[in-house]
Amino acid sequence: MSDGTTGKQIDVAVLGAGIVGVSAGIAARQRGLSVVVIDRREPGSETSYGNAGILSSGSILPLNKPSLWSALPGYLANTSAALRWDPLWVMRNLDWVVRFLGNTVPSRTRPRAAALHGLIGASLKLHREWIVKANAAQRIRETGWLKAWRNDATEAAKQEQAFLAEFGIKSELLDRQAISALEPDIVPVYKTGLLHTQTASVDSPGAVTKAYARMFSAAGGEVRQSEIKTIEPQGDGWRIVVGDGAVSARHVVVALGPWSADILRPLGYRVPLAVERGYHLEFTPNPARSLQRPIHDAEGGFLMTPMENGIRVTSGVELTDRDAPSSFAQLDMVVPMARGVVEFGSAVGEPWRGARPTLPDSLPVIGKAPRHQGLWLAFGNQHIGFTTGPATGSAIAAMIAGEAPSFDVAPFAPSRYI
Ligand SMILES: Cc1cc2nc3c(=O)[nH]c(=O)nc-3n(C[C@H](O)[C@H](O)[C@H](O)COP(=O)(O)OP(=O)(O)OC[C@H]3O[C@@H](n4cnc5c(N)ncnc54)[C@H](O)[C@@H]3O)c2cc1C
Repeated sequence: MSDGTTGKQIDVAVLGAGIVGVSAGIAARQRGLSVVVIDRREPGSETSYGNAGILSSGSILPLNKPSLWSALPGYLANTSAALRWDPLWVMRNLDWVVRFLGNTVPSRTRPRAAALHGLIGASLKLHREWIVKANAAQRIRETGWLKAWRNDATEAAKQEQAFLAEFGIKSELLDRQAISALEPDIVPVYKTGLLHTQTASVDSPGAVTKAYARMFSAAGGEVRQSEIKTIEPQGDGWRIVVGDGAVSARHVVVALGPWSADILRPLGYRVPLAVERGYHLEFTPNPARSLQRPIHDAEGGFLMTPMENGIRVTSGVELTDRDAPSSFAQLDMVVPMARGVVEFGSAVGEPWRGARPTLPDSLPVIGKAPRHQGLWLAFGNQHIGFTTGPATGSAIAAMIAGEAPSFDVAPFAPSRYI
């Protein structure tokens, strides 16, 4: 089907089998198109594997929101668990940093929140439908997501609640007692909580992505495991050179997550894609001390999620080069804090490192490349790519088929950057 040597052209080649690429594949197959999804690894083995597994209804305010300014002084000393930055990286990427901070102005906040709300709503609908169809419904928990503060943060929590309510997103304000009623096995360290009641989570985002990939294959899609080298325009379509041959396709979808900008550079597109790196470490659970839902420790800047293999502790943001050596300083800080909340055993496996792909306005690019026919971009889903992958991929498939996507994609137009 996808062997370039036969000269046969397929309809769509999707580059990347993370949650975004697999979703684009499913949605393109649903429209009767012939599709190959190409990745050097098995589906769902990179960023879509190591995340915190939250399907978040309420993450409509990205990191670069107005309140970032009040947090910045705390980040300057570069000792915070929530955000670390490499000074040399900042100097080399000053343009990205300035544009990222420029988006914190209040006038840029509401439109971006509205855009993300549309994307998230469409995506959660698809997740809840697909996870059942993919025989993975046992992996989803409809228990919400708890943001918790050690200090009295009632005012901050109320403000967040009011903002979410303007978009129809429900949440419950909790005090220490209510938090204990909700999570009876945790140590009562939190004074204030905000429960995002419409948020779900999964016990293995990698396994969910793999289940979606199996659903894609069962529907007649092809998954090809090969290194993608280059993409070149060829006639009315594209030639994708891979490690073991070549693929000809009418349309190419770039869904390479944090690696997406690399493949586009030879075509003259310089996409300002940075990465917010993050880590996780998993621990054997104590059966007598279970966690019912993911908890975000607001002051500590970390998350704890009950997963298939144990409690996954995920760290905050590290701004540096995608491939720079790992630094476990943030994990080293937050693991003892997590242990003070929920008792767990020893580490399962090694620490994992991933990279959240982020554009300066924290909105993904979803749409057509401005100067090439049949080239589609679907990446930059920052902290919420596992949530937003299905609708990102589906919108691309709809546009390829000449249909209108199910949410407003105008704010995500690639032409805003390239
Ligand atoms: C610590 C952390 C916690 C997070 N928590 C959450 C969360 O709770 N909820 C949420 O919604 N999101 C979360 N995210 C964000 C989310 O994980 C990402 O936004 C999302 O997984 C991105 O998906 P993707 O498909 O774009 O990229 P990926 O999953 O990275 O997929 C890209 C694929 O491209 C392949 N690839 C790259 N280059 C090549 C090449 N040359 N040849 C072949 N294949 C190639 C890779 O192998 C990879 O499989 C978190 C991220 C991190 C780092």
